[in-house]
Amino acid sequence: MADTPALWISGHLAERIRAHGAETYPHECCGALLGRDSSFVLDGDRGKSLQTPAREILQLFPLVNRRDDSPRNRFSVTAEDVLAAEKAAREQGLEVVGWYHSHPDHPARPSQYDRDHAWPWYSYIIVSVHNGAPLDMTSWRLNDDRKEFSPEEIEVRHRAAV
Ligand SMILES: [Zn+2]
Repeated sequence: MADTPALWISGHLAERIRAHGAETYPHECCGALLGRDSSFVLDGDRGKSLQTPAREILQLFPLVNRRDDSPRNRFSVTAEDVLAAEKAAREQGLEVVGWYHSHPDHPARPSQYDRDHAWPWYSYIIVSVHNGAPLDMTSWRLNDDRKEFSPEEIEVRHRAAV
């Protein structure tokens, strides 16, 4: 197992996440990431091969931010949202591998609220939106002890690997 997980996403989908964040500004946007986990065997030197765990984002499932008390800095994913996202994923032969949301006028780093409401295993993409313009996009996974997030490298690809 390689130690750094990578998250693969097409340029088109990355753009859609950024656009969603700009659209809902100054409120947070949120949605589900649909895709799959794979191990790709890469040919290494001298006949050695390397197993690289990778996660591919193949579709998005935008959600409505239902937090009307504090939509600027809170988003909430309800049980109904999770079920709807899982159903949409199944219909496309995919699974829900993560969630995305925006940080209006805040850096693309998880907040305490994010940590308190996250689950391990999922990828959490955060896009920072300043004055309505999307800036940095980062991805995180909650450690199994649920205390910290680890950064996950986002690789923007023009085509999904087969
Ligand atoms: Zn957040």
